[in-house]
Amino acid sequence: MTAIRLHDTMAREKRAFEPADPKRVTMYVCGPTVYSRAHIGNARPAVVFDVLARLLRHRYGEDSLVYARNVTDVDDKIIAAAEAEGVDPSVITARYEDFYLADMGALGVRPPTMAPRATENVGEMIGMIARLVEAGNAYEADGHVLFHVPSDPDYGALGRRDREAMIAGARVEVASYKRDPADFVLWKPSEPQVIGWDSPWGRGRPGWHIECSAMIEAHLGETIDIHAGGLDLIFPHHENEIAQSRCAHNGVPLARFWLHNGFLSMAGAEKMSKSLGNVVTVAELLEQGHKGETLRLALLSAHYRQPLEWSPQLIAQSKATLDRLYRAAGDAVAGEADSKVIEAVADDLNTPLALSRLSAIDDPATLRASAALLGLLAESASAWFQGEGDARVDALIDARAEAKRRKNYAEADRIRADLEKEGILLEDSPAGTTWRRT
Ligand code: AMP
Ligand code: ZN
Repeated sequence: MTAIRLHDTMAREKRAFEPADPKRVTMYVCGPTVYSRAHIGNARPAVVFDVLARLLRHRYGEDSLVYARNVTDVDDKIIAAAEAEGVDPSVITARYEDFYLADMGALGVRPPTMAPRATENVGEMIGMIARLVEAGNAYEADGHVLFHVPSDPDYGALGRRDREAMIAGARVEVASYKRDPADFVLWKPSEPQVIGWDSPWGRGRPGWHIECSAMIEAHLGETIDIHAGGLDLIFPHHENEIAQSRCAHNGVPLARFWLHNGFLSMAGAEKMSKSLGNVVTVAELLEQGHKGETLRLALLSAHYRQPLEWSPQLIAQSKATLDRLYRAAGDAVAGEADSKVIEAVADDLNTPLALSRLSAIDDPATLRASAALLGLLAESASAWFQGEGDARVDALIDARAEAKRRKNYAEADRIRADLEKEGILLEDSPAGTTWRRT
């Protein structure tokens, strides 16, 4: 059996992966803050770590993986969005959690084993904060509870930044109630009209970092096999998670492997982010007629640690690759996965290599099973080309209507005649044009 090797951010190298308990492999990925539609960059961690989940299930057994991806459903941006709409925050979070699941489902992302919500684990967070206060790692000041960074001599091991860079990078306000500028919030007070919970420190709400530490402890255990997320989460989010959990657990480490995906950017631009306003959402791409599986293959076309430039060409190439793979696979039933493809995925999720090896497989049953490891070829070939044909006919009907509007009747007649040659009859009525196969 090929060994699984994963690049561990903490060790700064690829290491052989063995779970602490092969019967219960634990993985946690930091999930979405649910107040807006996911952009295609947000989909990258969901898709690449879905491939990792598929690999782990393939290796250790379908039921051996316990994969948690949290839902951040209490946050200042959620509160602001709720105020802007004049609704309860739960209206915003329920809406965008549903959208997130639908969008990721369209990309072939299997739901994780559990998706714990922050608002349903506040008791666990309060418990962990209380322990940190008792141990001398946290203190109460001005209605807030803060983690005291100098109380943890190992703070910063993941990103290995120096202290000045961390203070500057965190862009934390240097509030007067802080003992040290690097200290971060575990609990903050809520105004009476703002969402909040009773706590030993008054009515308030948790900070973001404590959410993951408390939910990992509650649902997975003190030390998990794999913790993952985007590169931007290394600091401060994961650094803070590590400090909180280690200090609350007598020095026991939070995770045995740390994985981080690189950033997706728009061709010719910086990273894609909501604050830069250069985002394209998964929903928009689907509305443009791209299939979820095409977008998934595009996201897997680069190695997950590398940057990925998103462009129309990338989508077109991915579509062409999938057409080729579907033609080769036909409607065959999956057999056994190819060992060369498994080897590529097991080598730190080398999806570009796995994709090129897929293209070399002749046997349709082997091709289907191997593609399934990447979450590809989920449909039958007939379904793939059928839906696709419909979208193309609809686009041609639109082009014909546009030609008529421009009084270019020759062009409109040419489109109709071409479709007729394919056995597709157009029927005009006052309500518009419909079509049927003859
Ligand atoms: P957020 O909802 O902004 O907290 O992001 C959710 C996840 O998406 C996190 O793991 C981020 O690291 C990741 N992420 C956000 N933007 C990008 C991007 N442009 N490329 C890749 N991953 C991203
Ligand atoms: Zn987290």
